[in-house]
Amino acid sequence: MFELKNATMIYDMDKEEKAYAMNRINLTFPDKGLVGIIGPSGSGKSTMMYTMSTLKRLTEGDILYNGESLSGISEKRRQELRRYELGFVFERHYLVSYMTALENAILAASCPVNEAKAKAEKILVDIGLKKSEFNKTPAQLSGGLRQRVAIARAMMNDPKVLFADEPTASLDHENAFLVMDRLKEYSKDRLVVVITHDHSIIKDADTVIEVWDGSISNVTTKGGQA
Ligand code: ADP
Repeated sequence: MFELKNATMIYDMDKEEKAYAMNRINLTFPDKGLVGIIGPSGSGKSTMMYTMSTLKRLTEGDILYNGESLSGISEKRRQELRRYELGFVFERHYLVSYMTALENAILAASCPVNEAKAKAEKILVDIGLKKSEFNKTPAQLSGGLRQRVAIARAMMNDPKVLFADEPTASLDHENAFLVMDRLKEYSKDRLVVVITHDHSIIKDADTVIEVWDGSISNVTTKGGQA
């Protein structure tokens, strides 16, 4: 699905001392399953995710998405991919404060409103919200429930890839594991990429990619080395 080919990202290109956030990374991602990207703060995890998800462009090298070069594609195509194929969950939920849980889940839906409403209700129930919580605003929900609404919103357009950047960082352990269970289940028939600095969060991952100082230090795949 994703192939990183000498993928390189240098911030502050003009500076004498170049900072490599990604240093000639070569890596292939599977079509489905739960992939964890782990490493200390500043090791390049977010940069890898942002370049794979078309939010940032590499400075050198390429990333192929189903054979399509992300370095070469137009802005229109990037937007199309983000709208129809890629889903995002961030550490902070970024829900709209004056909208209800249901309205937030529907917000970016690409299908007609009635269809979107029925679909959002189903996803919200599946992810653990009670019907009585659908009409609550984010401020009326716990952190765990807010993050589940954010995940439901990301699932609305049936993305082929779901990217989650520290999705559990602001949650207690119980909620963190509930969210991870849901993402694990979701990864049965699509790719879910989770960034974290906490090993316990990705204990059920099918593949764990360890990042260190802009490079891959180790890749472990369940059932053996990748
Ligand atoms: P992580 O997600 O593992 O914390 P990042 O990908 O955010 O790592 O950052 C990798 C390196 O790139 C760090 O040294 C960071 O300071 C640097 N970096 C990240 N974003 C920027 C930016 N917008 N401008 C300059 N340097 C950046």
